[in-house]
Amino acid sequence: MRKLSLIHLVILLCLSVFAFSTHSIASSKDGLLKIHFFDVGQGDAIFVEAPNGSQVLIDGGPDNAVVQKLGETMPFYDKDIDLVVLTHSDADHVTGLIGVLERYEIENIVYSNIVRKSSLYNAWQEVVAKEGASVIDPMVNKVIDLGNGVILAIIHPAESLAGKVMDKVNNESVVLMLKYGEMEVLLTGDIEARAERQIILSGVALDADILKVAHHGSRTSTSEEFLYGVSPQVAVIQVGAKNRYGHPTKEVLGRLENFGIKVYRTDVDGSVKIVSDGENYQMIITN
Ligand SMILES: [Zn+2]
Repeated sequence: MRKLSLIHLVILLCLSVFAFSTHSIASSKDGLLKIHFFDVGQGDAIFVEAPNGSQVLIDGGPDNAVVQKLGETMPFYDKDIDLVVLTHSDADHVTGLIGVLERYEIENIVYSNIVRKSSLYNAWQEVVAKEGASVIDPMVNKVIDLGNGVILAIIHPAESLAGKVMDKVNNESVVLMLKYGEMEVLLTGDIEARAERQIILSGVALDADILKVAHHGSRTSTSEEFLYGVSPQVAVIQVGAKNRYGHPTKEVLGRLENFGIKVYRTDVDGSVKIVSDGENYQMIITN
């Protein structure tokens, strides 16, 4: 919604802080952070509206359903999104983003510029080049300041992956901790147990109120040690009904249940929205 631009990069100790400055005056400014976990079938698409009106889209799902969801959520006149994050380039995350870049003006894009043989990934790189947005290479300790005390901290990957040749990229997913006051939401892409362990061993603070379950509830993710580290109250699984992978698996649902975590699923609940004032939060099922 806001016409924001990347204005400076401050190196502060080991932290890189990317701050956005606000140029637009149109904003609800209700002091609330809203996080929409869109029901886009078998894939992820998470839309964040910060209290100052800045907007972030994390992944785009497997088709153009995300475009319709954005149209229902954003004002009709709003054709700008401040930041798009591609966690990794598998089809169920990148496909919808290509349509978003074609329809919206994107100011900043976070993605790992891995070298991968994939026509879909080539299409993504072409639309990124056309977009002319600022591209931020993700790695741990970079922090994106969304204003009004809302930050997106990158906690994985551990180093830049730019130029590396890879085909399997789940474990290279960009993992983000979204923080607003006392509220923390961990967004995990499709990382599996190997990356979960790597993150735990890095010593980064993992504790969060809400966990976006990695890889749609695949049994190879959401290990007990990771759940112990994150200790969320609520988990959200973005997953398509009757998908061919058997997601979410009974193993992951069992682990979440054993930890006493309340589970929301887009295949059962539809789109799920979180609203927070930085102290408390409310879960809202929107369709
Ligand atoms: Zn996925």
